Amino acid sequence: MKKIAILGSTGSIGTQSVDVALKHGYKVTALTAHSNYKLLEEQARLLGPEKVALHDEKGAAELKTALADTDIKVLSGMDGIIECAADTSADTVINSVVGMAGLKPTLAVINAGKTLALANKESLVAGGQLVMGAAKEKGVAILPVDSEHSAIFQCLEGRPSNKALKKIILTASGGPFFGKTKDEIRNMTAADALRHPNWSMGAKITIDSATMFNKGLELIEAVWLFGVSPDMVDIVVHRESIVHSMVEYDDNSVIAQLGLPDMRIPIQYALTYPERFESPVGEINFAKLGKLTFFEPDYETFRCIDICRNAINKGGLMPSAVNSANEEVNRLFREGRITFGDIPDLILKGAAVAPEKDIFTVEDVCETDALVREAVLSLI
Ligand code: NDP
Ligand code: MG
Repeated sequence: MKKIAILGSTGSIGTQSVDVALKHGYKVTALTAHSNYKLLEEQARLLGPEKVALHDEKGAAELKTALADTDIKVLSGMDGIIECAADTSADTVINSVVGMAGLKPTLAVINAGKTLALANKESLVAGGQLVMGAAKEKGVAILPVDSEHSAIFQCLEGRPSNKALKKIILTASGGPFFGKTKDEIRNMTAADALRHPNWSMGAKITIDSATMFNKGLELIEAVWLFGVSPDMVDIVVHRESIVHSMVEYDDNSVIAQLGLPDMRIPIQYALTYPERFESPVGEINFAKLGKLTFFEPDYETFRCIDICRNAINKGGLMPSAVNSANEEVNRLFREGRITFGDIPDLILKGAAVAPEKDIFTVEDVCETDALVREAVLSLI
């Protein structure tokens, strides 16, 4: 029986991962969350893991009392999450923590020699060099959960190397503000931005989708996962979210992966790879769809894509810095403390305080994170 651990099990990807695990009868060895101890308790009772961890210490104390009648080990803080990532009988660990808080757990999974099913794109953006270096050293596979990267992974499958690969074409839904002008979106609120046309996701990534910072993160994610240069990654807006991404070869043949927009497909594939199991999701009815549309992104209105492209071109700690700045700005926007129009400049100004360093450690990333967040807060 396959054994898996789910980090961030109470979130959007985490709860869908629980569904997939239940559907296939996988043994779940560990579950973690930030503060939602009620849902974590429910999941623990349902799945009977070896260990659970809550980041929040107070919640962890509540959870410990609640699970006192079981033999499940209850841990707390980042150390507890790391123990759940590295020290259970799981073969595969899904990292569906949100934000760069997922970096240390990602590294812990790899260093423990377990397969990593990665939804937490921020860990690759913040520490791509560290994550890919550790995976290479340990011979650990990173299987993408992000739908675009799962698509690219599937389009590249069976090829011995990236030889003859000309480019990767990342598709983007365009988010709720597609087609609007800079002036029209300047004063959009978090409630407006949280209305995503195709995907139901956690709050942070839904805002990233509205600013299209998410596509910038995914560009950087693709660079690291597939070992391509940033200029080999094109972006095209595809409103229907049916084509999840494509690859183009030297002969101009393009291979795409299609499916209904439901994260359970890429989650399941990361768990069953290289096998394919019966889907929890329906089939595409092409005749009913009728047509699929594609547009050039509006880079002037959605400046966050180029902020990320410039950051990965610059390299060093810059991707990490723009990611940290965005995490802080994203939160401030959701709290109604800044406007939608403030977002790009705040990210740029916040990230500008990052030290220049080509080779860095996880401590450098954490120090930069603290510096950048402080800089963003000082600007508002
Ligand atoms: P959610 O906000 O729905 O869930 C996040 C999970 O991480 C929750 O379990 C949360 O616990 C936990 N968490 C939050 N903060 C911390 C912290 N500081 N330390 C430890 N755990 C924490 O996010 P999503 O599921 O939407 O996204 C998760 C990841 O997957 C992100 O990196 C996102 O970019 C990526 N992704 C998501 C997609 C989607 O469809 N949702 C699609 C593709 C990628 P608690 O519930 O207690 O707060
Ligand atoms: Mg995606």
